[in-house]
Amino acid sequence: MPIRVLAPEVANQIAAGEVVERPASAVKELIENSLDAGATEIRVEVREGGRRLIRVQDDGCGIPADEIGTAFLRHATSKINDAADLERITTLGFRGEALASIAAVAHVTLLSRAAGEDAGALIRLAEGREVERKIAGAPPGTSITVEHLFANVPARLKFLKQPATEAAHIQQVVTRYALAYPERRFSLVSDGRLLFQSTGSGKLFDALAKAYGLDTAKQMIALGEEGGRVTGYAGVPALHRGSRSYITLFVNRRWFQDTSIAYAVVQAYHTLLPVGRYPVAVLFLDVDPGDVDVNVHPTKAEVRFREPNVIFGAVQKAVRRALVENAPIPEAGAAATALPGAWPHESGAPGDDPLRAWTERREALLNAGRGAQTPMPLPGAEDEYPYPGPRAEPSQLEAPGPAFIGQETASSARLMPILRVVGQLAATYIVAEGPDGMYLIDQHAAHERVLYEQMLAERAQQQLAVQPLLEPAVLDLSPEVAALAADALPQLAELGVALEPFGGASYLLRSVPAILARESQPERAVIEILDGLSRQEDVVDATAEARLITLVCKRAAVKGNTPMSLPEMQELVRRLEGCRSPRTCPHGRPTMVYMSGAELAKQFARI
Ligand code: ADP
Ligand code: MG
Repeated sequence: MPIRVLAPEVANQIAAGEVVERPASAVKELIENSLDAGATEIRVEVREGGRRLIRVQDDGCGIPADEIGTAFLRHATSKINDAADLERITTLGFRGEALASIAAVAHVTLLSRAAGEDAGALIRLAEGREVERKIAGAPPGTSITVEHLFANVPARLKFLKQPATEAAHIQQVVTRYALAYPERRFSLVSDGRLLFQSTGSGKLFDALAKAYGLDTAKQMIALGEEGGRVTGYAGVPALHRGSRSYITLFVNRRWFQDTSIAYAVVQAYHTLLPVGRYPVAVLFLDVDPGDVDVNVHPTKAEVRFREPNVIFGAVQKAVRRALVENAPIPEAGAAATALPGAWPHESGAPGDDPLRAWTERREALLNAGRGAQTPMPLPGAEDEYPYPGPRAEPSQLEAPGPAFIGQETASSARLMPILRVVGQLAATYIVAEGPDGMYLIDQHAAHERVLYEQMLAERAQQQLAVQPLLEPAVLDLSPEVAALAADALPQLAELGVALEPFGGASYLLRSVPAILARESQPERAVIEILDGLSRQEDVVDATAEARLITLVCKRAAVKGNTPMSLPEMQELVRRLEGCRSPRTCPHGRPTMVYMSGAELAKQFARI
């Protein structure tokens, strides 16, 4: 399409506003033009953080010599024609304003040779006015040089940060496009130094390694199958960061900001991250161009989805699934070597499968141990334990999952192997043997996880077990905790904690969740749970209900420094094996550490 000035009625429908706020915004617009021009190689060079010079060179389709002046007119674009085109935008640019805006606040030189033309054309503008135009030799493609940015806009100049800061913003922009377009080669040179270069291999992983470093990239899990709506990479929970800014989102390869979608990502890490920490993720949404409006904001950094809830759910689910299927177990010792991400299902494993042999051996051991004693049930270990264990029928595995995590289909892989309990260490850890190494399980964290999933499953099936008290107990709370309790009364009741106002800061306790039934003083347990509400020490972004459940489970779980019998430990490990996220407690701390057989052999100098 030739470059033409849009009709005023079309131009007026475009989100208006300034697009060149700082050097990085100019770089962004120029890179988008190169991408729209089909360039495979995009070179960015800046000096003094872009203030002195920005040059973007590409090998794209170029601009025909007779259109080179039109390109700098406001609302001149080759990318859309009429208002209907605004409904389905497939190019990065469409406003026809970038070149005009940049030329208005700098000295610009554009040299371009269009495909099929013998020579190139050069145009030079200063503060928006054309000062030179000529035929010039040029390689195919376009090179734009922007000098003395904002020299004529002192107000804008004043707000520019140190050159190093501006260069960092520019690097962020280049890096984002390199992630979105791994099949194109990007480079960034700042004051003569190569700051960034991507390979153009077409592999997102390669771009990720260039953007974040190989170590970090290796700790990221690929999402979704081919053709999914949500693809990209999500960091393992251990890769957490102090802010949400490591969640990078693209829709149809366009970078965008959206606190709600970022929240969907954080939610997917629910109970897997420590308090106040955020994940690293690079996500690509594939959405029909008609279902997303990119014409919301002049810099196109915000978009509007036709069905935001569908997108929210898809993101949360895709990330959650990848995490649940791949969460690694921390390995003892500093050198964490590759740990199998998941173990195959027992059923359907071929006869010579080592896991099958292992399972049989373990069953035999367990049965031998069971002969004399029946395992002492842990609190909450009722027979009709509703959570599907590893040996559940496929239909049972499809039982509704935790309501706020969304439906998780049964994973096709195990998240921890079947373990043989060897004994207890320091009355706090369970020592166990797996198919390839030793596992140390934190009994308290593991029991918290088991109880947490049990309560969620019971809640989802509306059959949470409740224990009425024979005698109602009186709770005397501090005014602060009483106020929190008053707000949480309905949620508490849902979980079986029936409280009645008893004057002032006192409450009558009539029932507790069944998992607290063994408490000798249930009112003390409830006070402790309510106290927990006033401390901000629990999971990130949890719903009020999830916070409460976490607190109940923390209280009900077996403590450290508590001797456990072998059958008790076996029972706990068996139930942990049935959990959806067995590797972390609801607060996100690990439930187990692992030392591989190979590592043991190494430590003992056997190999
Ligand atoms: P927009 O990208 O919104 O169309 P711009 O002001 O950024 O508006 O660019 C105006 C026009 O100039 C584009 O529509 C395109 O035809 C042409 N153009 C700009 N940069 C390049 C480039 N690097 N290669 C080829 N054509 C370009
Ligand atoms: Mg543009």
